[in-house]
Amino acid sequence: MRILKMLILPLITSSLMSGLSSMESKACCKMGVLTVTYYLWTTFIAVVVGIVLVLIIKPGYGTDMESNRLGNGQVMTSADALLDLVRNMIPSNLIEATFQQYKTDLIPIIKTPLNPGTQNFFYLMPDDNNPKGRTVLLELTPAPDIEYKTRPGSSQQMNVLGIVIFSATMGLLLGKMGERGAPLVNVCQCINECVMKIINAAVWYFPFGIIFLVAGKILDMSDPSTLGKKLGWYGVTVLAGLFVHGLVLLPLFYFILTGKNPFTYIRGLLQAMVIALATSSSSATLPITMKCLLENCRVDRQIARFVLPVGATINMDGTALYEAVAAIFIAQVNEYELDFGQLITISITATAASIGAAGIPQAGLVTMVIVLTSVGLPPDDITLIVAIDWILDRFRTMINVLGDALAAGIIGHLCRKDFPPDRAANENGGAKD
Ligand code: ASP
Repeated sequence: MRILKMLILPLITSSLMSGLSSMESKACCKMGVLTVTYYLWTTFIAVVVGIVLVLIIKPGYGTDMESNRLGNGQVMTSADALLDLVRNMIPSNLIEATFQQYKTDLIPIIKTPLNPGTQNFFYLMPDDNNPKGRTVLLELTPAPDIEYKTRPGSSQQMNVLGIVIFSATMGLLLGKMGERGAPLVNVCQCINECVMKIINAAVWYFPFGIIFLVAGKILDMSDPSTLGKKLGWYGVTVLAGLFVHGLVLLPLFYFILTGKNPFTYIRGLLQAMVIALATSSSSATLPITMKCLLENCRVDRQIARFVLPVGATINMDGTALYEAVAAIFIAQVNEYELDFGQLITISITATAASIGAAGIPQAGLVTMVIVLTSVGLPPDDITLIVAIDWILDRFRTMINVLGDALAAGIIGHLCRKDFPPDRAANENGGAKD
């Protein structure tokens, strides 16, 4: 995890600055619009798949679990999440953006009645500008089994979106400078080449890292038999939705839009999938996804350099699907009938909440407060699903990463006139060089 996280910053800045410097602004604009449109569309489809499945399977009815409804604190809204996204696009301090996204002092550690051995870290939503962000978990967790700890180092995340926007702007401007900008472009290309070499070396270590990451988590788990049957069905529903979206719908979109075999493409992404499964973080997986796209899937460098970092921040199909399923599951547990309007609200807020979630472990669990409060469900009931969230998180992260990677293939195909296929081969600094 540390190796991967270490590489995110130099990878994003160097690849965007050197990549976009040789790009026409018109082509860049087209790629940007296509990317964002495609991301929003697929996220929305993922939510619809989740809603349909949870309404058919009904995992929360006749439940053997107890809801611990504790009130209905009006805490965080989807507007807050979207505004935070906008605020993150333009960091007020670039240095700060490289190490901190959310200014949260406290981590509540929740020991749920379902699985007392599990420790869950909730990072509060955003920053000083959003006073509601601080109240989320205070209202959410008045119960005595919550402990607050000061966040160690309080510098867990970087503001990837802010860095992407800054580096992309710098890249385009460097391109416009021509000769004068060339030295800096060269520096960025060299850094990029070195980062790719470090990634290539680090992959040899990953199998060991993965074993310890997963083994540690399994040892942490207390008796799995304490999990309710309905919770099991809820997990099955989420996994079925992820399967349908990731292995049926997304490949189908890929096939329709490119005419190519999606599974050949997906085969090239296996390494990234395994890392996503092991780390539960699409941001940490980013360097490996980039490597797979460039080396195995032959996606144009400039496309991958733009589409992947943006996707790791805003495109989380798996998270959106899970948020919708979880919200409806919680409604079912509470025997709370959702009308059609509320289902629409859930689909919109789940999309917004997934866009607002960071690419870190269990970020979706926190932004789910948005979805629950939007339809009047108690945010405290997140504790019902916490026990198996760590495992579902791994699978939804895989689908998040897969969605970004397939998007890069599709956008690359749709923009192939602006980015001829032989370009990657011609460009200096190839990962295999
Ligand atoms: N862990 C997910 C990711 O990094 C986000 C989430 O759903 O919690 O993509």
